[in-house]
Amino acid sequence: MEKNNVKEDAGFAGIDAAKEVGEISYRALQKAKGMIKPGVRLIEVAQAVESYVKENKYGIAFPLNLSINNEAAHYTPSIDDTKVFSDNDLVKVDFGAAKEGALGDCAVTVDLSGKMQTLVEASEEALKAAISIAKAGVKVREIGKVIENAIISRGYQPIRNLGGHTVGLHELHSNIFVPNYDNGDETILEEGMIVAIEPFATTGKGMVTESDVCEIYSYDMEAQTRMKEARILLGLIQKNYPTEPFAVRWLANAMESSFSIYAGISELSRSGALMPYPTLIEISGGAVSQAEAEIVVEKDGCEVVTK
Ligand code: MN
Ligand code: MN
Repeated sequence: MEKNNVKEDAGFAGIDAAKEVGEISYRALQKAKGMIKPGVRLIEVAQAVESYVKENKYGIAFPLNLSINNEAAHYTPSIDDTKVFSDNDLVKVDFGAAKEGALGDCAVTVDLSGKMQTLVEASEEALKAAISIAKAGVKVREIGKVIENAIISRGYQPIRNLGGHTVGLHELHSNIFVPNYDNGDETILEEGMIVAIEPFATTGKGMVTESDVCEIYSYDMEAQTRMKEARILLGLIQKNYPTEPFAVRWLANAMESSFSIYAGISELSRSGALMPYPTLIEISGGAVSQAEAEIVVEKDGCEVVTK
């Protein structure tokens, strides 16, 4: 998720801070993983995990993402979400804690059907392969190549228009993109860079597109609007969520009716005050798995911080 209002030199947010938010992010991810069972409400998991991080005095880098089956990313429960996990769900859990602009980012896939294990393994093994070659001087296309090989050799496709990224201060997606295939990009990773690597594997074609569902936004810039609800929400967002992305449900107490909140948010998005992060779905309806870890690039290798 990119931020336009805070630009920092990419990928050097501070190693100690990255380790600290990496650890709490990973613990939160494990907590989410343990709660995901058939019949459990998605909103219950999201609230528990986000509260856990706040109780530990950390901020939230972005709302807990719980993207199911052909959804690849960016679904988070709505204000009055009634959805429950079913025993056929393939659930991507993606989350990060924050502290003073240092951002965690990690993900895991939970297969409730028990039938998608090789697809889950494809993204996990791709991540391991990428970590095994990541070091100062490696080209991002080389990372992409090992990810692609690990996924294709298992009979699946990598998602080509999603990928990893350097992590900057207050900037989850800073300037370097780490592809999930060999895209020819000769950009090299440098010592001290903080990088999220996130292979996605799918039974489908290997591309995502935006759906019309959007539950995550970030504040972008001041904008004029005549709608009263929008003005109230904009004030709250500027005060409480000025930098990192937020979930619409975090504004649930702002007004009596959730309809008014969604109307206000839509108006703010149209006016350019907010940047939307719609749920991304695989274009051919394929099932999607994801694995993600954040690393610090070292001279001769790398260290995983989300552990
Ligand atoms: Mn992520
Ligand atoms: Mn990421």
